[in-house]
Amino acid sequence: MSNQISEKVHVLIIGSGPAGYTAAIYAARANMKPVLYQGIQPGGQLTITTEVENYPGYPEGIQGPEMMVHFEKQAARMGADIRYGLATKVDFSVRPFQVEIDEEKWIEADSVIISTGASAKWLGLESEERLNGFGVSACAVCDGFFFRGKEVAIVGAGDTAAEEALYLSKLCTTVHMVVRRDQMRASKVMQDRVLNAPNIKVYWNSVTDEILGANKVEAVRLLNTATQEKTEIPVSGFFVAIGHEPNSGIFKDFIDMDETGYIQTIPGTSKTNIPGVFAAGDVQDKNYRQAVTAAGSGCMAALDAERYLTANGLA
Ligand code: NDP
Repeated sequence: MSNQISEKVHVLIIGSGPAGYTAAIYAARANMKPVLYQGIQPGGQLTITTEVENYPGYPEGIQGPEMMVHFEKQAARMGADIRYGLATKVDFSVRPFQVEIDEEKWIEADSVIISTGASAKWLGLESEERLNGFGVSACAVCDGFFFRGKEVAIVGAGDTAAEEALYLSKLCTTVHMVVRRDQMRASKVMQDRVLNAPNIKVYWNSVTDEILGANKVEAVRLLNTATQEKTEIPVSGFFVAIGHEPNSGIFKDFIDMDETGYIQTIPGTSKTNIPGVFAAGDVQDKNYRQAVTAAGSGCMAALDAERYLTANGLA
Protein backbone atom coordinates (compact mmCIF):
# COMPACT_ATOMS: atom_id res chain seq x y z
CA MET A 1 0.00 0.00 0.00
CA SER A 2 1.47 3.38 -0.91
CA ASN A 3 1.78 6.13 1.67
CA GLN A 4 -0.59 9.10 1.58
CA ILE A 5 1.75 12.08 0.98
CA SER A 6 0.69 15.33 2.62
CA GLU A 7 3.56 17.59 1.60
CA LYS A 8 6.65 17.82 -0.58
CA VAL A 9 9.82 19.49 0.68
CA HIS A 10 13.16 20.20 -0.86
CA VAL A 11 15.53 19.53 2.03
CA LEU A 12 14.27 17.70 5.10
CA ILE A 13 16.45 17.90 8.20
CA ILE A 14 15.75 15.38 10.95
CA GLY A 15 17.04 16.44 14.38
CA SER A 16 17.75 19.69 16.19
CA GLY A 17 21.18 19.60 17.80
CA PRO A 18 24.12 21.68 16.58
CA ALA A 19 24.34 19.55 13.42
CA GLY A 20 20.69 19.94 12.42
CA TYR A 21 20.47 23.66 13.13
CA THR A 22 23.75 24.40 11.35
CA ALA A 23 22.56 22.43 8.33
CA ALA A 24 19.33 24.47 8.48
CA ILE A 25 21.22 27.78 8.61
CA TYR A 26 23.33 26.89 5.57
CA ALA A 27 20.46 25.34 3.60
CA ALA A 28 18.18 28.32 4.26
CA ARG A 29 20.86 30.79 3.21
CA ALA A 30 21.32 28.81 -0.01
CA ASN A 31 17.57 29.19 -0.64
CA MET A 32 16.92 25.46 -0.28
CA LYS A 33 13.87 26.09 1.96
CA PRO A 34 14.77 23.51 4.57
CA VAL A 35 12.16 22.00 6.83
CA LEU A 36 13.56 20.78 10.17
CA TYR A 37 11.80 18.40 12.54
CA GLN A 38 13.13 18.80 16.06
CA GLY A 39 12.51 15.32 17.47
CA ILE A 40 11.62 14.46 21.07
CA GLN A 41 14.39 16.53 22.63
CA PRO A 42 14.51 19.89 20.81
CA GLY A 43 18.06 21.18 21.00
CA GLY A 44 19.47 17.72 21.65
CA GLN A 45 21.96 16.65 24.27
CA LEU A 46 23.22 20.19 24.93
CA THR A 47 19.90 20.99 26.53
CA ILE A 48 20.85 18.68 29.40
CA THR A 49 24.27 20.21 29.99
CA THR A 50 25.17 23.28 31.97
CA GLU A 51 28.12 25.51 31.10
CA VAL A 52 29.69 25.16 27.66
CA GLU A 53 33.15 26.69 27.73
CA ASN A 54 34.69 25.26 24.60
CA TYR A 55 32.36 26.47 21.84
CA PRO A 56 34.28 29.18 19.99
CA GLY A 57 32.70 32.61 19.96
CA TYR A 58 31.53 32.60 23.57
CA PRO A 59 34.50 34.02 25.49
CA GLU A 60 32.61 33.92 28.79
CA GLY A 61 31.08 30.48 28.17
CA ILE A 62 27.35 29.86 27.82
CA GLN A 63 24.69 27.54 29.22
CA GLY A 64 23.96 24.61 26.85
CA PRO A 65 20.17 25.20 26.67
CA GLU A 66 20.70 28.91 25.94
CA MET A 67 23.19 28.12 23.20
CA MET A 68 20.66 25.86 21.52
CA VAL A 69 18.06 28.64 21.64
CA HIS A 70 20.61 30.79 19.80
CA PHE A 71 21.09 28.07 17.17
CA GLU A 72 17.35 27.76 16.68
CA LYS A 73 16.78 31.52 16.45
CA GLN A 74 19.56 31.89 13.91
CA ALA A 75 18.15 29.08 11.75
CA ALA A 76 14.64 30.59 11.99
CA ARG A 77 15.93 34.06 11.09
CA MET A 78 17.54 32.64 7.95
CA GLY A 79 14.14 31.26 6.97
CA ALA A 80 14.32 27.60 8.04
CA ASP A 81 10.91 26.08 8.74
CA ILE A 82 11.38 24.58 12.21
CA ARG A 83 8.70 22.22 13.46
CA TYR A 84 8.03 20.15 16.55
CA GLY A 85 7.66 16.52 15.52
CA LEU A 86 9.38 13.18 15.38
CA ALA A 87 10.37 11.21 12.29
CA THR A 88 8.95 7.75 12.95
CA LYS A 89 9.58 5.83 9.72
CA VAL A 90 11.36 6.33 6.41
CA ASP A 91 11.26 4.89 2.93
CA PHE A 92 14.48 5.68 1.10
CA SER A 93 13.79 3.15 -1.67
CA VAL A 94 11.66 5.68 -3.55
CA ARG A 95 12.34 9.12 -5.08
CA PRO A 96 11.49 11.60 -3.72
CA PHE A 97 12.30 10.03 -0.34
CA GLN A 98 9.42 9.49 2.07
CA VAL A 99 9.48 10.22 5.79
CA GLU A 100 6.67 9.61 8.26
CA ILE A 101 6.16 12.22 10.99
CA ASP A 102 4.60 11.41 14.39
CA GLU A 103 3.20 8.16 12.98
CA GLU A 104 0.50 10.17 11.27
CA LYS A 105 1.62 11.92 8.09
CA TRP A 106 4.09 11.27 5.31
CA ILE A 107 6.32 13.91 3.75
CA GLU A 108 8.25 13.66 0.49
CA ALA A 109 11.74 15.11 0.28
CA ASP A 110 14.24 15.57 -2.54
CA SER A 111 17.06 15.26 -0.03
CA VAL A 112 17.33 14.31 3.62
CA ILE A 113 19.86 15.30 6.26
CA ILE A 114 19.93 12.92 9.23
CA SER A 115 21.11 14.67 12.40
CA THR A 116 19.30 12.65 15.05
CA GLY A 117 22.23 12.51 17.48
CA ALA A 118 22.86 9.95 20.18
CA SER A 119 21.41 9.16 23.59
CA ALA A 120 22.95 7.92 26.81
CA LYS A 121 22.77 4.18 27.48
CA TRP A 122 21.22 2.88 30.71
CA LEU A 123 21.79 -0.28 32.71
CA GLY A 124 18.13 -1.31 32.50
CA LEU A 125 17.42 -1.73 36.22
CA GLU A 126 13.94 -0.97 37.51
CA SER A 127 15.44 1.12 40.34
CA GLU A 128 17.49 3.10 37.83
CA GLU A 129 14.38 4.13 35.93
CA ARG A 130 12.32 4.81 39.07
CA LEU A 131 15.02 7.04 40.61
CA ASN A 132 16.00 8.81 37.39
CA GLY A 133 16.11 12.50 38.25
CA PHE A 134 16.05 11.63 41.97
CA GLY A 135 19.74 10.91 42.28
CA VAL A 136 20.20 8.83 39.14
CA SER A 137 21.75 10.69 36.21
CA ALA A 138 23.62 10.02 32.98
CA CYS A 139 25.38 13.38 32.96
CA ALA A 140 27.88 14.24 35.69
CA VAL A 141 28.56 17.63 34.21
CA CYS A 142 24.84 18.47 34.31
CA ASP A 143 23.99 17.13 37.73
CA GLY A 144 27.24 16.75 39.70
CA PHE A 145 26.64 20.14 41.28
CA PHE A 146 23.69 18.74 43.26
CA PHE A 147 25.98 16.30 45.05
CA ARG A 148 28.63 18.70 46.32
CA GLY A 149 30.16 17.41 49.54
CA LYS A 150 28.39 14.04 49.21
CA GLU A 151 29.31 10.50 48.17
CA VAL A 152 28.37 9.26 44.72
CA ALA A 153 28.80 6.16 42.57
CA ILE A 154 29.54 6.04 38.85
CA VAL A 155 29.26 3.04 36.54
CA GLY A 156 31.47 2.61 33.48
CA ALA A 157 35.12 2.33 32.59
CA GLY A 158 35.53 4.16 29.29
CA ASP A 159 36.90 7.65 28.71
CA THR A 160 33.54 9.21 29.49
CA ALA A 161 33.28 7.43 32.85
CA ALA A 162 36.88 8.37 33.69
CA GLU A 163 36.32 11.99 32.72
CA GLU A 164 33.08 12.18 34.69
CA ALA A 165 34.56 10.42 37.74
CA LEU A 166 37.38 13.00 37.77
CA TYR A 167 34.86 15.80 37.40
CA LEU A 168 32.81 14.43 40.31
CA SER A 169 35.93 13.91 42.44
CA LYS A 170 36.38 17.69 42.50
CA LEU A 171 32.88 18.17 43.94
CA CYS A 172 32.17 15.08 45.99
CA THR A 173 33.82 13.60 49.07
CA THR A 174 34.17 10.11 47.57
CA VAL A 175 33.45 8.74 44.10
CA HIS A 176 32.81 4.98 44.00
CA MET A 177 33.59 3.81 40.48
CA VAL A 178 31.99 0.53 39.44
CA VAL A 179 33.92 -1.38 36.75
CA ARG A 180 32.47 -4.62 35.40
CA ARG A 181 35.76 -6.22 34.32
CA ASP A 182 39.22 -6.38 35.91
CA GLN A 183 40.40 -3.58 33.65
CA MET A 184 39.26 -0.30 32.18
CA ARG A 185 38.61 0.56 28.57
CA ALA A 186 39.61 4.21 29.09
CA SER A 187 42.85 5.54 27.62
CA LYS A 188 45.97 5.01 29.72
CA VAL A 189 46.31 8.67 30.67
CA MET A 190 42.71 8.83 31.90
CA GLN A 191 43.09 5.58 33.84
CA ASP A 192 46.21 6.91 35.53
CA ARG A 193 44.39 10.04 36.56
CA VAL A 194 41.50 8.04 38.00
CA LEU A 195 43.75 5.62 39.86
CA ASN A 196 45.80 8.49 41.28
CA ALA A 197 42.82 10.52 42.46
CA PRO A 198 42.77 10.14 46.25
CA ASN A 199 38.98 10.15 46.54
CA ILE A 200 38.04 7.82 43.67
CA LYS A 201 37.62 4.23 44.82
CA VAL A 202 37.47 1.64 42.04
CA TYR A 203 35.44 -1.57 42.44
CA TRP A 204 36.75 -4.12 39.91
CA ASN A 205 34.68 -7.03 38.59
CA SER A 206 31.60 -5.34 39.96
CA VAL A 207 28.10 -4.83 38.68
CA THR A 208 25.17 -2.90 40.08
CA ASP A 209 22.77 -5.26 41.75
CA GLU A 210 20.30 -2.56 42.81
CA ILE A 211 20.06 1.14 43.51
CA LEU A 212 18.45 1.58 46.91
CA GLY A 213 16.08 4.28 48.10
CA ALA A 214 12.34 4.86 48.08
CA ASN A 215 12.10 8.41 46.70
CA LYS A 216 15.76 9.29 46.25
CA VAL A 217 19.04 7.46 45.96
CA GLU A 218 20.32 6.38 49.37
CA ALA A 219 22.73 3.56 48.57
CA VAL A 220 23.89 1.17 45.89
CA ARG A 221 24.29 -2.59 46.22
CA LEU A 222 27.14 -4.02 44.19
CA LEU A 223 27.83 -7.61 43.25
CA ASN A 224 31.41 -8.72 42.84
CA THR A 225 31.18 -11.24 40.01
CA ALA A 226 34.49 -12.86 40.94
CA THR A 227 33.63 -13.54 44.58
CA GLN A 228 29.79 -13.31 44.41
CA GLU A 229 30.04 -10.98 47.39
CA LYS A 230 27.46 -8.19 47.74
CA THR A 231 28.39 -4.79 49.20
CA GLU A 232 26.12 -1.90 50.10
CA ILE A 233 27.56 1.60 49.80
CA PRO A 234 25.67 4.67 51.00
CA VAL A 235 25.58 7.25 48.19
CA SER A 236 23.37 10.20 47.29
CA GLY A 237 24.01 10.16 43.57
CA PHE A 238 24.32 7.39 41.00
CA PHE A 239 25.83 8.22 37.62
CA VAL A 240 25.65 6.01 34.57
CA ALA A 241 28.46 6.52 32.04
CA ILE A 242 28.42 3.39 29.91
CA GLY A 243 28.39 4.99 26.50
CA HIS A 244 25.92 6.37 24.02
CA GLU A 245 23.63 4.93 21.41
CA PRO A 246 23.12 6.60 18.05
CA ASN A 247 19.48 7.42 17.28
CA SER A 248 19.53 5.62 13.97
CA GLY A 249 17.00 2.79 14.37
CA ILE A 250 14.46 4.03 11.83
CA PHE A 251 17.10 4.18 9.08
CA LYS A 252 18.56 0.70 9.51
CA ASP A 253 16.80 -0.91 6.52
CA PHE A 254 18.30 1.62 4.12
CA ILE A 255 21.46 3.24 5.47
CA ASP A 256 24.84 1.56 6.04
CA MET A 257 25.90 1.58 9.69
CA ASP A 258 28.66 0.10 11.76
CA GLU A 259 27.97 -2.75 14.18
CA THR A 260 26.88 -0.32 16.90
CA GLY A 261 24.43 1.60 14.72
CA TYR A 262 26.54 4.66 13.86
CA ILE A 263 25.76 5.79 10.31
CA GLN A 264 28.69 5.40 7.95
CA THR A 265 29.54 8.37 5.80
CA ILE A 266 32.03 8.54 2.96
CA PRO A 267 35.18 9.89 4.66
CA GLY A 268 35.56 13.64 4.28
CA THR A 269 31.89 14.05 3.32
CA SER A 270 28.42 13.72 4.85
CA LYS A 271 27.29 11.29 2.13
CA THR A 272 25.65 8.03 3.10
CA ASN A 273 25.32 4.98 0.86
CA ILE A 274 22.15 6.53 -0.61
CA PRO A 275 22.80 9.54 -2.87
CA GLY A 276 20.65 12.40 -1.60
CA VAL A 277 20.66 11.23 2.03
CA PHE A 278 23.29 12.85 4.22
CA ALA A 279 24.26 12.40 7.88
CA ALA A 280 25.79 14.87 10.33
CA GLY A 281 26.59 15.08 14.03
CA ASP A 282 26.73 12.39 16.68
CA VAL A 283 24.59 9.90 14.76
CA GLN A 284 27.62 9.39 12.50
CA ASP A 285 30.42 10.27 14.91
CA LYS A 286 31.39 8.18 17.90
CA ASN A 287 34.80 9.74 18.19
CA TYR A 288 34.66 13.49 18.63
CA ARG A 289 31.05 14.09 19.76
CA GLN A 290 31.54 17.80 20.28
CA ALA A 291 29.09 20.62 19.59
CA VAL A 292 31.61 22.29 17.31
CA THR A 293 32.38 19.15 15.30
CA ALA A 294 28.65 18.39 15.01
CA ALA A 295 28.02 21.94 13.78
CA GLY A 296 30.86 21.60 11.26
CA SER A 297 29.44 18.37 9.91
CA GLY A 298 25.98 19.98 9.66
CA CYS A 299 27.50 22.63 7.43
CA MET A 300 29.08 19.89 5.30
CA ALA A 301 25.71 18.14 4.96
CA ALA A 302 23.97 21.30 3.75
CA LEU A 303 26.70 21.96 1.18
CA ASP A 304 26.64 18.32 0.03
CA ALA A 305 22.83 18.47 -0.27
CA GLU A 306 23.01 21.66 -2.30
CA ARG A 307 25.50 20.11 -4.71
CA TYR A 308 23.41 16.95 -4.99
CA LEU A 309 20.23 18.90 -5.78
CA THR A 310 22.01 21.01 -8.38
CA ALA A 311 23.73 18.05 -10.02
CA ASN A 312 20.41 16.19 -10.26
CA GLY A 313 18.36 19.07 -11.63
CA LEU A 314 16.39 19.37 -8.40
CA ALA A 315 17.68 22.76 -7.23
P1 NDP B 1 32.84 3.36 25.65
O1 NDP B 1 31.98 2.49 24.80
O2 NDP B 1 34.24 3.60 25.24
O3 NDP B 1 32.90 2.72 27.11
C1 NDP B 1 31.76 2.25 27.75
C2 NDP B 1 32.17 1.70 29.11
O4 NDP B 1 31.01 1.32 29.82
C3 NDP B 1 33.07 0.47 29.00
O5 NDP B 1 34.03 0.50 29.99
C4 NDP B 1 32.08 -0.67 29.22
O6 NDP B 1 32.67 -1.79 29.84
C5 NDP B 1 31.11 -0.04 30.19
N1 NDP B 1 29.80 -0.65 30.09
C6 NDP B 1 29.02 -0.80 28.98
N2 NDP B 1 27.85 -1.38 29.29
C7 NDP B 1 27.90 -1.62 30.62
C8 NDP B 1 26.99 -2.19 31.53
N3 NDP B 1 25.78 -2.63 31.15
N4 NDP B 1 27.36 -2.29 32.83
C9 NDP B 1 28.54 -1.82 33.25
N5 NDP B 1 29.46 -1.26 32.44
C10 NDP B 1 29.12 -1.16 31.13
O7 NDP B 1 32.00 4.71 25.83
P2 NDP B 1 32.50 6.16 26.26
O8 NDP B 1 31.27 6.99 26.31
O9 NDP B 1 33.32 6.10 27.48
O10 NDP B 1 33.40 6.65 25.07
C11 NDP B 1 32.92 6.67 23.71
C12 NDP B 1 34.01 7.18 22.79
O11 NDP B 1 34.30 8.55 23.06
C13 NDP B 1 35.34 6.44 22.98
O12 NDP B 1 35.94 6.29 21.72
C14 NDP B 1 36.13 7.37 23.85
O13 NDP B 1 37.53 7.19 23.72
C15 NDP B 1 35.67 8.73 23.38
N6 NDP B 1 35.83 9.74 24.43
C16 NDP B 1 36.99 10.43 24.51
C17 NDP B 1 37.19 11.37 25.50
C18 NDP B 1 38.47 12.08 25.55
O14 NDP B 1 39.35 11.75 24.82
N7 NDP B 1 38.61 13.07 26.40
C19 NDP B 1 36.17 11.68 26.51
C20 NDP B 1 34.99 10.87 26.36
C21 NDP B 1 34.86 9.94 25.36
P3 NDP B 1 33.64 -2.80 29.06
O15 NDP B 1 34.94 -2.08 28.95
O16 NDP B 1 33.66 -3.99 29.95
O17 NDP B 1 32.99 -3.07 27.73
